[in-house]
Amino acid sequence: MEEIKKLAVIGNPIEHSLSPRIHSLFAKELGLKVSYEAIQIKQENFEDDLESLFDRGYFGLNVTLPLKELAFSFADKLSEESELCGSVNTLWKEDSLTCADSTDGRGLVKDLKNKNINLENQEIVILGAGGSAKAIIPSLLKAKPKRITIANRTISKAKLISEQFSSGNDQIEPIPMSHSLGFRPDLVINTTSAGVLNQGLELPTNLFFDDTHTYDLSYSIEDTPFLKLAKNLGAKLRYDGLGMLIEQAALSFEIWTKQKPQTNLNKVDIL
Ligand code: NDP
Repeated sequence: MEEIKKLAVIGNPIEHSLSPRIHSLFAKELGLKVSYEAIQIKQENFEDDLESLFDRGYFGLNVTLPLKELAFSFADKLSEESELCGSVNTLWKEDSLTCADSTDGRGLVKDLKNKNINLENQEIVILGAGGSAKAIIPSLLKAKPKRITIANRTISKAKLISEQFSSGNDQIEPIPMSHSLGFRPDLVINTTSAGVLNQGLELPTNLFFDDTHTYDLSYSIEDTPFLKLAKNLGAKLRYDGLGMLIEQAALSFEIWTKQKPQTNLNKVDIL
């Protein structure tokens, strides 16, 4: 009899994670026997709890806040992308080694492609300089944009990211949020957590034009606070991060099951 593949997402808090629903839809569509749970793990117990999950037969794990960097330090074998990001969101065992990948950046780029948003030779502005900004930069750079500008409330963090990722022709420009933009961005990506924290967000001026694609990594059934703000400031082409969430999940699912799920899921089936 075919064994059930045990999968889970770990994080803290974890009860609101949409991953169990998304992975169940993938498994159903492909007719695979998969269980996918949401398991709370605290930072202080990370290593013991993780080993215990693998010992109990979990085959693959997604990792979310605040454990992505810890999982990076714990892994024995890192993908090239996760080495660049310094964090991971996907773990699995191979010959008793803990392997890790970061699928967030590739998930975002896939979703942008699904939306026919070109990245090559484009002006990209990233708002925020936290974990998710670092996770998406390597994939964005691979798509050969003209320039990435990174605006953050704490400018020192934007400068650090710029130093970490700038090399050769790939130069990342750090700017404060109070900046007035001197060019026309093709794509603005919000990676700040201001919306989920229910806080106001100061933005650089001259950020949105009629043809600026505006992408929020956060998602909700209605417009996110950032997308509402962007709409009021003139952004016409607006998208939330649900597509990225689904695409990064599909990449993890494929790593574990070697099968590619359909990603054109309905928003109402997930949120
Ligand atoms: P971090 O905590 O690592 O970073 C948060 C960033 O937001 C920092 O740059 C911080 O600035 C900035 N910020 C927070 N509050 C404000 C504010 N009031 N005004 C201006 N800037 C602010 O979070 P992550 O990068 O890990 O996650 C950010 C968001 O991305 C989350 O909402 C998460 O849900 C979403 N996300 C979505 C994914 C998807 O698949 N769609 C995947 C991953 C994340 P400062 O440095 O000054 O503190």
